[in-house]
Amino acid sequence: MKKTLLLDRIDAYLDKAGNPVYPDTYKPKPRIKPSDLGNPSLRRIFYSYLRVAPDKKLETKVKRIFDTGDAMHEMIRSWVKGTGTLIEYKDKDGNVPPDRWTGKPNPEFPVSVPELDIKEGKIDGIIKIDGKLWIGEFKSAKDSKFQPLDDAMDDHKIQANTYVHLFEFCLQRGDYAHIKELEGFTGVEGVVYLYIDKDNSELKEFVTLKSDSDLEEIVQKISAIKKAVADKKLPPCACEPKKWCPYYKKCCKNFNPIK
Ligand code: SF4
Repeated sequence: MKKTLLLDRIDAYLDKAGNPVYPDTYKPKPRIKPSDLGNPSLRRIFYSYLRVAPDKKLETKVKRIFDTGDAMHEMIRSWVKGTGTLIEYKDKDGNVPPDRWTGKPNPEFPVSVPELDIKEGKIDGIIKIDGKLWIGEFKSAKDSKFQPLDDAMDDHKIQANTYVHLFEFCLQRGDYAHIKELEGFTGVEGVVYLYIDKDNSELKEFVTLKSDSDLEEIVQKISAIKKAVADKKLPPCACEPKKWCPYYKKCCKNFNPIK
């Protein structure tokens, strides 16, 4: 096979970056990822909660797609920042804390609710418009998914509404008392979604008001996962197993990591 000057090296770099190797002594602790809660499959959330390794390692072509999404996400953030409506997270010393994975400053808002086993989540943006606060969700989609959109996607709505409630909980607990722009606020109005078309950079905006019914669904989902773990029972398969699911093979074999 023809050897390239850079492409092979980029592939090797992406392979390493996408599949970090942890020391044998590292035992990841169970945790709920807020971004998982929009997924309708309890089985998938169960695997993710227990930190089960995906069926196969991340392919470099998928890592490239993820990185493209992340880059577009950052681009939208910079555009929103340019409007003067974005509130960025800073620590008590006034510095934007470094991201745990990249080491670069990460101004996304951290949320943590150990009572729900949510150790850490990050909110894309907190936006202040006309004296009201909104959660900002920035998403990218390929053209075939972007064009038919006339509202935010259902799983994104559940995910974002989770962040609404987590943010309000942390706000009222005083986690952001050092952030001047949030002084006097106890809650948010809802969510502003910005979607970008990966093919042509077209933008769409959708707005949803916060909903308490989603909160009940979220709490029910978390309780169901914790009960399944306590009972050592694999949640039922909620759909025809999907090949794109990172746990597809394990799901087909009804693999239970804690039986
Ligand atoms: S294949 Fe489907 S049912 Fe199985 S874990 Fe994945 S999403 Fe859930």
